[in-house]
Parts: sequence; structure tokens; C-alpha cells
Amino acid sequence: MECEMCGSKSDKLRKVKIDGAILSVCPKCERFGTPVDNLRSYEDTSRRIVVPYVNVAVKPVSIPQKGAKSRKKDSDIENLEIVPEFADIIRLAREKTGMSQDEMADKLREKRTLISAIERGSIKPDIKTAKKIENLLKVKILEEF
Ligand SMILES: [Zn+2]
Repeated sequence: MECEMCGSKSDKLRKVKIDGAILSVCPKCERFGTPVDNLRSYEDTSRRIVVPYVNVAVKPVSIPQKGAKSRKKDSDIENLEIVPEFADIIRLAREKTGMSQDEMADKLREKRTLISAIERGSIKPDIKTAKKIENLLKVKILEEF
């Protein structure tokens, strides 16, 4: 191996950067340039291609629509509450009409299990359902407070 600076033979050539060129030089000529070992490894690192993880199947974020509808209803019903004895009132009124829980559920478009739970008093109907029940059974289970 020959030094690319002075041409002397050496087996200890090192790569240095001199005036922008990278030369293999002998230890005597090393001082004329900048060692490139460090530069090289730095360049290798920076050249490493990082493939960004691209999430192709991004689900569109569903923006909840502003519930103007339900909001209005809330304001309509905000002064109403279910009377405490609603369960008995509903059950007695339904039995008086001869309706089964199934039939009542059908007419209210609710599940029979809900009607059953309401009549047991284990579920308090919401105001909307209570109004439907009032209309269907001609009872009063809502009161203003
Ligand atoms: Zn040399």
C-alpha cells in the first residue's frame, strides 16, 4: 500500500480527508488531513433509511353530531320526574286494560324485559318512556317538581 500523499509504502495507511478528498495516507501524512473513520461512521448512521410506520387503514373519526334534538327534549322535560309509586300505577293500569307485558312492550316499542323491570320497580323509566306509558295507559306517572 502506498501513501496517496507522499507515495511512501506503509501498511498502516489511514483514510483522512484533505481538501475535501479522502486519501489513504501514511502516519506521517495523517496530520495534513482529518481522520475520516469517525466521519464515515457518522455518515453511515445518517444514511440509514428509516421507514416510517404508516398506518394505512386509518378509520375516519366519527364526530358525534351535536344532539340538538335530544337537547331540546331535555329542556322540555327537565321539570318532570317519575312519581315514586310508578311501578304499581303502571302494573295496575296495564292489568285493567287486559294488556300483557308483551303487548304493552310492542305498543311502546320497548323490550318486554324493560316493562317487566319497570313494573317490579327495579328500573325507573326515562321521561320519554314514561310519557309513552302515560299516553298508552291513561295514567299519570310524571309530576313536576
Ligand atoms: Zn505519506
